[in-house]
This record gives sequence, structure tokens and C-alpha cells, in this order.
Amino acid sequence: MEAFEYRPNPAHIIFGSGSVAKTGHQLKQHGLSKPLILSTPEQVSQAEALSATLTEDVKVVGIFSEATMHTPLHITEKALQYAQEREPDCLISIGGGSTIGLGKAVSVRNGLFHIVIPTTYAGSEVTPVVGETVDGKKTTRSDPKILPSLVIYDIDLTMTLPVGMSVTSGINAIAHAAEALYAQSGNPITNLFAQEGIRALARSLPELLHDKSSVSARSDAQYGAWLCGTCLGSVGMSLHHKLCHTLGGSFNLPHSETHTIVLPHALAYNAPKVPGAMKMLADALPESNGDAIVGLNKLLAKTNAPRSLKAFGMKESDIDKAADIAVGNAYWNPRAIERDLIREVIRRAWAGEDAR
Ligand code: NAD
Repeated sequence: MEAFEYRPNPAHIIFGSGSVAKTGHQLKQHGLSKPLILSTPEQVSQAEALSATLTEDVKVVGIFSEATMHTPLHITEKALQYAQEREPDCLISIGGGSTIGLGKAVSVRNGLFHIVIPTTYAGSEVTPVVGETVDGKKTTRSDPKILPSLVIYDIDLTMTLPVGMSVTSGINAIAHAAEALYAQSGNPITNLFAQEGIRALARSLPELLHDKSSVSARSDAQYGAWLCGTCLGSVGMSLHHKLCHTLGGSFNLPHSETHTIVLPHALAYNAPKVPGAMKMLADALPESNGDAIVGLNKLLAKTNAPRSLKAFGMKESDIDKAADIAVGNAYWNPRAIERDLIREVIRRAWAGEDAR
């Protein structure tokens, strides 16, 4: 075995149906009693339901429900002002990556203890990273202080996640694990997490298509999302994540859908240089017949996943722009970045072709 470094992130994870009821007890354990709850406008009812359960010795100082995609700085500043006026002693983010991004942006600035109750499979709750947008430009920063202190996974809150979003959010999670398998800082422990996470999602996502309320499928999907998010929080990502960042930020394409569409193409590009990682990925995907790209194409077909960026409004003329931006940023990737080949990766994703 080759030498490696492994640095687990020091967060406390609570997992299981009904776990959200443990929030009050956890606050008490940490000597906290005045939470500020964060949510999107669409999930304010989940924030209110949580607030209603926090009665004994806890005073919720307010619900700030303006979280939105890409963590715009002006919303963070508004939330900071709201917090300053109400003097909470902690933050509770209840929602997906957008709400968690706001919680991270606020807590890293005001130092409040941050509890996260995730409701999608994006994985942000277990990473020390936040992407923030100023004047339409998204920049990412990483700092151990950004990592939330406590994560409460409760599948009951994922039951309302629409099937389409469950699928794309689950593939977004698989993307973290897939790129972790060939990460420069990869290691055998992260590989175990990645393969187990991919297996859990690959068996649960097709099941959710038939029964969106399946307790076993929701449980598997959330477990997989945690493992895959942990990979994202532990090792560096490359081509696939960089491409999605470029496409989302520059052409305003939706986050999890973009990840879903680009993943097989980005992996097919890197595959010749990382046979070991592709074997691990193939082993974790059912019906792969030993070929990771075949397995991924089958999973996407079986889950009715979106396949083309064109359908989300990307113009053909944007392909060249995207290729230029993608090759303009220097980052480590297992295969050298060649502009014409990257353009073809983007074109295939734009057109909605099967990866090969
Ligand atoms: P999201 O948080 O934007 O949620 C999408 C929509 O679904 C929102 O309207 C939300 O309120 C709603 N929703 C979420 N959970 C729901 C549920 N259970 N039931 C009903 N509706 C629900 O989507 P996302 O994909 O989770 O997050 C995307 C954002 O997260 C992007 O900005 C991305 O950059 C960021 N992200 C960051 C990291 C990181 O490590 N920093 C990791 C992954 C994603």
C-alpha cells in the first residue's frame, strides 16, 4: 500500500428517522438556548415546525428565511444584521446546500456554533468549504472554521424532496465520491467511504422513482449522501467539479442538474489515466459489467435523469466560452487539460449524448 495522509473532519453526526427531535437536547448539551434558524422561503414551514419542537429552556430568536442559491453576499450581510439585532447564541441551518451555504457564510463571520439539518443530498454539511457570490462572480474559500459543528440527518425531512431533485442531488453526491477515487490526496479510507456511498445511492435512487416515500430508500440515500459529502470534505476535486463550477457560475445553470449531466462525460475524459479508480467505481455501480461509464449511463437512464445542458437554456455559442473558461483556471487533474477535448466533453453534455 502506498503512503497516505488521512484527516477526518471533527464534526458530530447524528443519523436516523426522528433525529430532529434530538435538537433541543443537543442545544442543552452545548450550553446553548437561543438559536437563530435559517431556511429558504420554500422551507420556512420546516423551520417553523422545528421551532415548535424547541420549547423547553430554548428561545428561538427568529427564523431568517431568505437563503438562496450561490450564497450572495448581500443576503449574508442581511442575515448578519438580523443576527446582530436578535443576539442568538447559535445557528441552525435547515435545508439544502443553499441554506447551509448561508449558515457557513454567517457563522464564519460571527463565530456562532453551527448546527445543520440537511434536507438534500448535496453534502455541504460535512465540508469546510463555502462558495460565495459577489456581483455575479462566485468564489470558493476553504477554512476549518467553516465546517459545521453538528449535523443532524433525519430522513423524515427528505420525504418532501421531489423525485427529480432527489435523483439529481443523489448524482451530485456520487460525483463527489467518483472524483475522490482519483483525487491527488486520495487514500484507502476515503475510497471505502466513496464506494459505500455510491453503492447506497445507486440502489436507492431507482427505488425512489417507484416510491418517493420508501423509508429504506430514503435512509440509504441519506447515508450515501453523508459518505459522499465526507469525500468532498476530505480530498481535492478536479475536472468534473471545476467544469460544473464554471458552467453554473457563468451560465446560471442549476447546480445538481449540471452535475448530473456532466459527470459521465468528465469521467470518460479522465478514465484512460485512472484505471484503478474506474475499476472501484465500476465495482460500486450495478449493471456496469466492469465499465464505470456503462454503469453510470445505465443508472442515469434508469432514474430518468436529465441528460442535456441545452434543455436548461445553455446556448450552443456558450460551448466555446465554457471551454475557454474551463482551461483558463489552473488546477490538478489526472489527465492534462486539452482545450479541444474539453470542448468536446462540454458539447456532448450540452447535446445530451451518452458518454463514451
Ligand atoms: P438547494 O439548497 O438550492 O435546494 C433547492 C430547492 O429545493 C430549494 O428551493 C430548497 O428550499 C428546496 N428543498 C431542499 N430540500 C427540500 C426538501 N426536503 N423538500 C422540499 N424542498 C426542498 O439545493 P442543493 O442542491 O442542496 O444545494 C445547491 C447549492 O449548494 C449550490 O449553491 C452549491 O454550490 C452548494 N453546495 C456547496 C457545497 C459545499 O461543500 N460548499 C456542496 C454541495 C453543494
